[in-house]
Amino acid sequence: MSKCKLPVDVVVAITYKCNARCSMCSIWQIKDHQEIPAQTYLKLPATLKDINISGGEPFMRADIVEVVKNIKTACPNARYVISSNGLAPVLIQQKIIEILKIEPNVGVAISLDGIGQIHDQVRGIPGAYEKVLQTVEILKKAGVKYIKLAYTLTNDNLEEMTKVFNLSKKLNVDFTMAAMQNSDVYFGNKENKLHQDPQKLKQAFYYVIKKQLQSWHPKQWGRAFFTFGLYQFIIGKGRKLPPEAGNQHFFLDPHGVIYPSVVDNQNMGSLALASSFEQIWCSVKNNTLRKELKNGLAKPSWMICTARSAIKKHPFFVGGWILKNKIKFSL
Ligand code: SF4
Repeated sequence: MSKCKLPVDVVVAITYKCNARCSMCSIWQIKDHQEIPAQTYLKLPATLKDINISGGEPFMRADIVEVVKNIKTACPNARYVISSNGLAPVLIQQKIIEILKIEPNVGVAISLDGIGQIHDQVRGIPGAYEKVLQTVEILKKAGVKYIKLAYTLTNDNLEEMTKVFNLSKKLNVDFTMAAMQNSDVYFGNKENKLHQDPQKLKQAFYYVIKKQLQSWHPKQWGRAFFTFGLYQFIIGKGRKLPPEAGNQHFFLDPHGVIYPSVVDNQNMGSLALASSFEQIWCSVKNNTLRKELKNGLAKPSWMICTARSAIKKHPFFVGGWILKNKIKFSL
C-alpha cells in the first residue's frame, strides 16, 4: 500500500430496497437485498466532508439510525444529506427524530419531479405527490433545518421544472436538480436518453439559473453554476470542470463495493473485506486507476454528487462565472 490523498465526498447507497417504481430507474426491481453490516461504515475515512446517504430508499433500511451513528463516528466533520423519495412519511418521521439526535444538522432531499399526477407518473406510485408534501411538513415539524426538493428531469416532465422550483420557494425549502442518466452501478443499469425540445429546455433552465443568481444567498449562486453546468452537459457541451471520480469522490454500494462514482463501474474493492479504507483506496491498482480517470477514463456526468467536489476545488473559476453571469442575467 502506497501513500495517497483520501477523498472528501461520497454517495453511500445503504440499501437497494425501494418503494417507488420510477420510470428512469430499475433499482426497485433488484431482488438481491444483501447489505453490509452497520459496523462496516466505521471504516469510512475521517477526511469525508460531504456525505450523501442514498438508496434505493434509505429509510427502508431497518437499521438506518445505527448506520448514520456509525458514519458520524467515523466522519465527525462531514455535512450529511439523506436523499429520499418521501413516499413513507410515517416511517421517515420515526427515523428522522432518532437521526436528529445523532446529527442535528442533517439535511434531507426529497424527490419531486412535478406537480400532482406528473410526479405520480414518473415515480409510478398513485398519491406520491401528496405523500411528498406530507413528508416535507413532517420534516419541518421534526426540526430538520435543511430540506430540499430534488427534481429529476426525464422525457416527461420538462414543463414541471420551473413549477417545482417555484413550489420550493413557496414551501421555503431548497431546490436541487438532476437529469436522468445511464449508469452501470446506479439507476439499476437502465438505458436512459433525454429527448427535449432545445428551446423549451433552454427556457426552463435559464428561468431557474436567473432566479438562483438573483437570490441574496451566495449558496444559490453556486447552485446557479451547477444548474448551468447541467444544462451545458445535457446539450452536449461536456462538463464545466474536470471530474473528481475516484479522486475526491467515490460511491459505496449496499454490498460494500467502492466505485469511483455512481456512473463509473470500475470495482475499486470491498470495504466489507478490507481491513481499512486506506488499504483499498491507496492500493497500487487504484492509484493507477485514479490517474486514468483523470486522463479521460471517467464517464461523463454532471450530477451534484460528481460535481460538488470539483466546484469546491475551483473557487476562482466558479466565482468568475458567477460574477459575469450575475451581470448578464440581471440585464
Ligand atoms: S430513482 Fe430512487 S426512488 Fe426511484 S426507483 Fe430508483 S432508487 Fe427508487
